[in-house]
Amino acid sequence: MVDNQNQFPVDKLLNWYEKNKRDLPWRTTKNPYFIWLSEVILQQTRVKQGLPYYEKFVHNYPTIEHLAKASESDVLRLWQGLGYYSRARNMHKTAQIITQDFNGIVPNNYKDLLRLKGIGKYTAAAIASFGFNENVAVLDGNVYRVLSRFFGIETDISSPKGEKEFREIAENILPKNEKSSIFNQAIMEFGALQCTPQSPDCLFCPLESGCKALAKGKVNELPIKLKKIKIKQRFFNYFIFEYDNKIAMKLRVDKDIWQGLNDFYLVENDSIFDKNTLKNIDFIGDYSENIRLVSKIYTHILTHQKIDIRFFHIVIKEEEMNKLTAKNYQFYTKSEIEDLPKPILLANYYKDCINL
Ligand code: SF4
Repeated sequence: MVDNQNQFPVDKLLNWYEKNKRDLPWRTTKNPYFIWLSEVILQQTRVKQGLPYYEKFVHNYPTIEHLAKASESDVLRLWQGLGYYSRARNMHKTAQIITQDFNGIVPNNYKDLLRLKGIGKYTAAAIASFGFNENVAVLDGNVYRVLSRFFGIETDISSPKGEKEFREIAENILPKNEKSSIFNQAIMEFGALQCTPQSPDCLFCPLESGCKALAKGKVNELPIKLKKIKIKQRFFNYFIFEYDNKIAMKLRVDKDIWQGLNDFYLVENDSIFDKNTLKNIDFIGDYSENIRLVSKIYTHILTHQKIDIRFFHIVIKEEEMNKLTAKNYQFYTKSEIEDLPKPILLANYYKDCINL
């Protein structure tokens, strides 16, 4: 257990925040729906990339009821390009629950927020603190890093023990007054701008005199994170079947990546096909001579998966069009495809390479 928790220089951190904070729209609101939206968008996403999405959502769905009433397809289309689509699906479902069961009013405390689907400890704390000034610590990756370095803590932040230890420290140093919300924002911003993962600005750091990691020369070693993410390799062979200037697409309904988005005819295999191997593939073989375009291999990286992808563009006859329709594929024009939610790699490839 860290013994110098009461020495955390709260005022120095707050002064730093006052001078250095970024001007961001969710910092000037107490609307819990907007705060929730910003936190969901910013999980795994940088501020610069997330900001336009925040603005689009606030514009299209200015209240929680607007979001609840939207179709999942429209929500996912607006989310397209942010990745982690389950975040959008969960938020949409929870907006419907809040609208139906809570009269559209977001619960105003940490405990009740945690009961909602898709709202974890971090998001519940952020809404309770920023929206309702509850004295609850908000712990994101930035906060773990600042605490680990300042107090020189070597406990693995990905372990349950680490989570408990860091939470206790964060709760202990949190001012239990009207400054708690600002303090939470300040320590997160400090981690994002000053005490960064790769090149923290220790030379001009207001916390430098008390920083244990700096004193022990362990800045680059902390925080400790032992749990390594296992990456699964997958191979996607996509067939862009064209009939009468329309393309076959299908909604992905299985519990897998991109659920709720549309994609082309997919053959997942243990390798990427080339023109020759296609001859042996059921359904495709007959068309191996009609291929209009074979793309290069694209690599798409997700948190837990690395996917190699190749596209084959094939013009088909009516008979095959009927077979695909029977398999729940629908044929869309280029402008209709533009409006469908789709994985961003497919959207970009289609836009750039397929001319109908
Ligand atoms: S001295 Fe360096 S490591 Fe320590 S808190 Fe400041 S920026 Fe972070």
